[in-house]
Amino acid sequence: MFDTHSVKAEVLELLASLKGYCASRRRAGIQSGDRYKPANPQEVLTQTTTREHESQEVLLQKVRTELGECTRCRLCAQRKHIVFGEGNPDARLVFIGEAPGADEDLQGRPFVGKAGQLLTRIIRAIELKRSDVYIANILKCRPPSNRDPEDDEINTCIPFLHKQLEVIQPRIICTLGRIATQALLGTDRGITELRGTFHLLGEIKVMPTYHPSYLLRNQEKKRETWLDMQMVQKEYFKQ
Ligand code: SF4
Repeated sequence: MFDTHSVKAEVLELLASLKGYCASRRRAGIQSGDRYKPANPQEVLTQTTTREHESQEVLLQKVRTELGECTRCRLCAQRKHIVFGEGNPDARLVFIGEAPGADEDLQGRPFVGKAGQLLTRIIRAIELKRSDVYIANILKCRPPSNRDPEDDEINTCIPFLHKQLEVIQPRIICTLGRIATQALLGTDRGITELRGTFHLLGEIKVMPTYHPSYLLRNQEKKRETWLDMQMVQKEYFKQ
């Protein structure tokens, strides 16, 4: 469980069981490959926005209206619902995953399945609520059989995520898993290499960590995730 006390207990238990564990820097089953690369990812979120007198909620709704019943890529064919994203339009912290899964496709909401429940516990463990943060994905429609997104699908969909981020202007982004991290940061480096430290995207601090669905299959990675989340928590509450 990811309530603070049980997570700490779990970490202590893991540390005990991991005593003497010589962790290799294997890429945790993560394959490298040519991923989406924005032309200049450091500039993507530094564009000026026309927020003026409109609330962030209204501006996000405008992005949603612009997206419409999107048919810009092949993923529209089998989706049940577009999963736009949800949460605090003025969030200081945004979580970004890869794409909706089956539960999310059914409900039209991000991270509502088992992995989503774990994400909710992770958020609680850093003393926040889901309603404090904003949660979205790189893709807004479910890839068939949860396959990896294709580069052209990412290229087509990610501008809408960028628009959401331009409206929200978070201080911190936590990317969940390899694909979200590579797509947002425009890198081919693996999640094992990237996690554990902040990366700058414009002025936003980006902390890559493991995807909750990966954690469900690889419990031993919870310890590293907790370390990442402690850094996020510290940054979040910093004055
Ligand atoms: S994944 Fe994105 S670009 Fe593709 S159809 Fe869905 S909303 Fe449109």
